[in-house]
Amino acid sequence: MSLTHIHTPIRLGPVEVKNRVVRTAHATNLGGGTMNDALIGYHRARAEGGAGLSIVEILSVHPTTPATLNVFMPGIEEGYRKLVDAVRPHGMKLFQQLWHGGHNALPLDGSPPWSASDVPSPTIGVTPVPMTQAMIDEIVAAYADTARRCEEWGLDGVEIHCAHGYLPAQFLSPNANRRTDAYGGSFDGRMRFMREVVEAVRAAVSPGFAVGVRMAPDLSANGVGVEEVMRAVAILEEARLIDFVDVSLGDYHAFPKLIGAMHEPLGYEMPTSAPVARAARTPAIVTGRFRTLEEADQVIRAGDADLVALTRAHIADPDLVRKTLAGHPEQVRPCIACNQGCVGGLLGPAARMGCTVNPAVGAEDSLEDRALTPAPSPRKILVVGGGPAGMEAARVAALRGHRVVLAEAADDLGGALRIAARAPQRHGIADIAVWLEQEIYRLGVEVRLSSYLSADDIRAEAPDAVILATGALPRMDGIQLSHPGEPIAGIDRPHVLSSWDLLLERPPRRVSHAVVVDDVGHYEGIAAAEHLITLGAEVHFVTRHTAFAHQMEAALSSEPALQRLARGRFHLHLRTRALSIGPDSVTLVPTFLPATDPHLFQVPAERVVLVSHNAPNRSLADELAGSGLPLRLIGDASTPRFLPAAIREGRLAGMEV
Ligand code: ADP
Repeated sequence: MSLTHIHTPIRLGPVEVKNRVVRTAHATNLGGGTMNDALIGYHRARAEGGAGLSIVEILSVHPTTPATLNVFMPGIEEGYRKLVDAVRPHGMKLFQQLWHGGHNALPLDGSPPWSASDVPSPTIGVTPVPMTQAMIDEIVAAYADTARRCEEWGLDGVEIHCAHGYLPAQFLSPNANRRTDAYGGSFDGRMRFMREVVEAVRAAVSPGFAVGVRMAPDLSANGVGVEEVMRAVAILEEARLIDFVDVSLGDYHAFPKLIGAMHEPLGYEMPTSAPVARAARTPAIVTGRFRTLEEADQVIRAGDADLVALTRAHIADPDLVRKTLAGHPEQVRPCIACNQGCVGGLLGPAARMGCTVNPAVGAEDSLEDRALTPAPSPRKILVVGGGPAGMEAARVAALRGHRVVLAEAADDLGGALRIAARAPQRHGIADIAVWLEQEIYRLGVEVRLSSYLSADDIRAEAPDAVILATGALPRMDGIQLSHPGEPIAGIDRPHVLSSWDLLLERPPRRVSHAVVVDDVGHYEGIAAAEHLITLGAEVHFVTRHTAFAHQMEAALSSEPALQRLARGRFHLHLRTRALSIGPDSVTLVPTFLPATDPHLFQVPAERVVLVSHNAPNRSLADELAGSGLPLRLIGDASTPRFLPAAIREGRLAGMEV
């Protein structure tokens, strides 16, 4: 690999950045509204890892728009000063993103949101108050005041968030701005609010402080397109108001495009971002699923941007730059764009960002690899099962100096990930298994493939400690959790199979009609349906849930899956359960009606795939209980969940053994 640009310095107006690697702003909520030690530790780890520039997540400029960081929060200044002190020695520059969400946020006092016009956001759905001149002046002043404070706190610059449908974008968009005064109508009118904000910010800071904007086409009909974004950037540049432009894509009307998941190709934003970046006279940042310095270097070499964001890639591995420049890009833990830990964590019940492949996010000081303590006395650790939980446990135990043996029944490592990666659009999930495998070999773990261990085998091995990571198996008992007392009749027919059997089948069998019964609502149901559709089947998808693959919604993966499935012959039955499986059909009924209801109906099925909650494979733990061997049960073997839990429990087991 020979890098030509990415590691070289660049000036963004008055600020010199040591390389072209940017971490663009992304909400973490690690600080719960303010700058705390968890968020400082998160940024410090990435500064140590060598990133050139980090743009800190949205800082709300005004109480009408609370965010994951808020300028009006008492004590926030102290937090920011600590952040700057922690980051500065490592040479990473810090810009702050300034934010007002407009109709996308509910004010703290319960009053209606503020926006350009009375057009509600698709997420909040509350009709906002069209801003008066006094309200506009107040918000413009709030942006300026926040920028001034950021400079006082020691940051290097600000980025005004004018993308993703937030307040400046609402003013710019003809769909959200229906004003007839000087802030609406023509392009210049719709641009006026943004221009006033940038002018006020520029006037509030010194010439040594960088000011830029984040801009994005919004993909809506009659919305802000690439041409409009280029025009807005040119106006700001001509007036010498900005030092850089950060180009992104989408808004809440096209949410999955904002943070493209695994189905999007690397650099998926480039068709819309490159024209803006090429036309810009100030340095331009682009983003969109880039993962390596090599890919980022190519973008710059091609003249398509000046800096490249490796944002999720840095969530997955804070040491991306350092490891790569030291000649070991293969040691960088890859982001798999599953979106389950980052945006999925933030929008999920925890309301806090995490990372599927990197459980140390938000707890860098205690969980990062560099925080590991060597084992006080190296011991022999036997790990049973080579799925993600077992491999992570083996990796961490080996890093700490233990002698580790890992036994895997199959002839290959990866566990359930090997099956998951067989689904269409899902091949990338195996990247983390490949990385774990490489790392455990590199660290000298003794890997024994095709080695099914019984309880006697484990005793005979005489390890000092055992980590059981034996996973889970499909539970084909026909139970749907909405009606646990009424298992599906006919579940034992030969044409009923699990998604595992379906995906592992070689060669895959083509059928004309199939039914997927998804009791879980995660990716497995999508995988089964898409596999069948790809093979030409007409698919009836049956789920007791009120939405399709609802557990993948926050990971921004349900709607893109529906878009793909809708290209085939796909029928969705929400709030529906299967009653019985016949030789060539399945009888269905709405979940809110009894099995005897005349509304039951039949759909054709040569094959039926049941996706239900798996059963943990715990028999070894039961057999070895009382053996005196120190045992630890982790991952799906403890109780079946999803990849983030498997890797997290592997990490903890490896740390504590
Ligand atoms: P997790 O996600 O918790 O890591 P997986 O299901 O992905 O779980 O992986 C579990 C792995 O354990 C599978 O690859 C399976 O073949 C392996 N396994 C299960 N039982 C045994 C056993 N007795 N000996 C060796 N390997 C086993």
